[in-house]
Amino acid sequence: MIILNGKGIGESISFGTLFINKRNFDNIPKYFYEDLNLEKSRLERALNNAIKENLDMYKKTLEINGEKEAEIFEVHSMMIQDEDYRLSILNIIENEKYNCEYAVYKASKKFHEMFLGLEDEYMRNRASDVKDICFSILKYLTSETDEKKEETQIDSKVIIFSDDLMPSEVSSADKNLISGYILSGGSDCSHAAILARLSNIPMVVGIGEHIKPEYEGMDVAIDSGEGKVYISPDTDTVKMLKEKEKFYNKKHEALDNLKGKENVTLDGYKINIYANINNDSQIDEVLESDADGIGLFRSEFLYLNRDSYPTEDEQFAVYKKIAERMCGNKVIIRTLDIGSDKSEAYFEFPKEINPAMGYRGVRVCLDRPEVLITQLRAIYRASNYGNISIMFPMVISETEVKTLKTMAAKVREDLKKENIPFSEDVEIGIMVETPAAVLISDILASEVDFFSIGTNDLTQYTLAIDRQNSKVNQFFDSHHKAILRMIKLVVDNAHKHGIWVGICGEMASDEALTEAFLTIGVDELSMPSSCILKVRKKVLETNVGKVKNKILKKFF
Ligand code: PEP
Ligand code: MG
Repeated sequence: MIILNGKGIGESISFGTLFINKRNFDNIPKYFYEDLNLEKSRLERALNNAIKENLDMYKKTLEINGEKEAEIFEVHSMMIQDEDYRLSILNIIENEKYNCEYAVYKASKKFHEMFLGLEDEYMRNRASDVKDICFSILKYLTSETDEKKEETQIDSKVIIFSDDLMPSEVSSADKNLISGYILSGGSDCSHAAILARLSNIPMVVGIGEHIKPEYEGMDVAIDSGEGKVYISPDTDTVKMLKEKEKFYNKKHEALDNLKGKENVTLDGYKINIYANINNDSQIDEVLESDADGIGLFRSEFLYLNRDSYPTEDEQFAVYKKIAERMCGNKVIIRTLDIGSDKSEAYFEFPKEINPAMGYRGVRVCLDRPEVLITQLRAIYRASNYGNISIMFPMVISETEVKTLKTMAAKVREDLKKENIPFSEDVEIGIMVETPAAVLISDILASEVDFFSIGTNDLTQYTLAIDRQNSKVNQFFDSHHKAILRMIKLVVDNAHKHGIWVGICGEMASDEALTEAFLTIGVDELSMPSSCILKVRKKVLETNVGKVKNKILKKFF
């Protein structure tokens, strides 16, 4: 048994078969084979398995999410069967005498470059699919020594080990197949970790380079509460983990008794606790968690895992459904926060040396106004069916806010002219997630109806620490006084101007800070549904009057 330590996301135990996500093109084995027939049959088997996997995923996704989401797997299976692609791989094997893995890589690279160079946008977007099918085939070539593994990848739950994951990879993961994630890199504030938390999939990040290729297919267990990974756990450890699982379950069950209770402290201070979501399928969990509303809908996920911008009607359908299902409770839709680690080929973003500081958030929307206008029209139309608010991300200036508000006003005017109904009560707010926005929050407060503090990015930009980089994760200190003081400044400025203020970054669910947030008067906390009841418990146990001096001395 091998025990590895990292940072855990969530509080649960999961068991599965280790599957190593070999996404790294740097480690493709390259050698001259000895037996041509063996190499050809290896290729045939891997291709067939990759086709089967994609068709299985197609069927499962079709059942769970519908044709639109499933389509991609059918396209992938067809691309693997493409005659030119296959011949190109075979040519390399037969004429250049290279092994299958290298032949698949080399042929895919050629097709990838060919697609990238095409005029037609749809065809150009196929380049990323070539990369996907390449990984899909390579996965079977590098794990073929044990036939059983190929079956387990589809038929029983797997725990995926990877260097890091793109948000789109986690958001498209099938929970029926994947019971956990282990990342050598990553950090607990990365979007992959946030998504795992939102989907309630246990994850351990930052375990370093300790997982060896030969561990693939072994039994593995994760204790995400402790941040521990057990490779090939022995019987005593499995027993201990099963007990721990019961303990976690009991803890979660005890919290269920708090459903229906108000979030009010022992001395009468109230706070709203809302949920963060990234797609409409998470509404069941939001309702189950007894959240007071949705404080952050990361709408950019509607734009991921697809080949073109979602239309106004497609977006309207999603926003309307969420608004209706929340039955008049608040739904804050954050407008497209694309860029940095969240992107798709069709956005055609330039390559950037420092993307977190680059072309992202409202910068993209101000540069491509038609994209924002389409989204705002969809949001306003949906506002007729519930209690929707609009929130703009990554704001740094008063001019930006004024421009965004003008665009929203124009959308309202157009809808009126077109006789399309919308609510006149849609609040407009901004995320405060840059130090610039904090320092001019007194000015910004007179422009908007509310603030929501994005502490993930605010910590990144204030401490100058990349939230995605596991190397510096140990320095990513969200309890840093600089961050707490910034939050207090924003709350004070917001209240001076009569607007409310929430926190929607990961800090909102940190119970060690609940007393501090209550003390300085934060009005709302928005977090993954799975964290709502534990924070409610902390609120119910707090006496602000009693802890105030201690908190002020500690942080401010
Ligand atoms: C944040 O930055 O804190 C936030 C909530 O936005 P995101 O994590 O999506 O960048
Ligand atoms: Mg952010």
